[in-house]
Amino acid sequence: MKPNKIEHIGIAVSNLDEAIRYWEDIMGLKCYNIEEVVDQKVKTAFFKVGEVKIELLEATSPESTIASFIEKKGQGIHHIAFAVDNTNEALSDVEAKGVKLIDKTSRAGAEGLKIGFLHPKSTMGILTELCSE
Ligand code: ZN
Repeated sequence: MKPNKIEHIGIAVSNLDEAIRYWEDIMGLKCYNIEEVVDQKVKTAFFKVGEVKIELLEATSPESTIASFIEKKGQGIHHIAFAVDNTNEALSDVEAKGVKLIDKTSRAGAEGLKIGFLHPKSTMGILTELCSE
């Protein structure tokens, strides 16, 4: 497994509209996509900074992992997503090297990507997402 680039940085926010205003008015970026991922109980908003995207994540239900993250740690950086050629192959590759996985196989993420998460216990605290088209 070797990532091609950082695909996006996921940021947990408690109010998506307020966060979009910050990223547009202060940071000067344009939100180009807002999407609800029902599966993950989140609403996402995307910005581009060069090749890297910023993904804002707001919980749509108290059972969302974003809701519990904010409850425990407050708003802030939630995960880093790396682009790989094939998410499923990359997941089995790192699993074979002893990494604990949150997703054994890929699932559908925002923007039509196949995504899978590595457990932060195995990555020195960084919730790591792998994604591919
Ligand atoms: Zn993500």
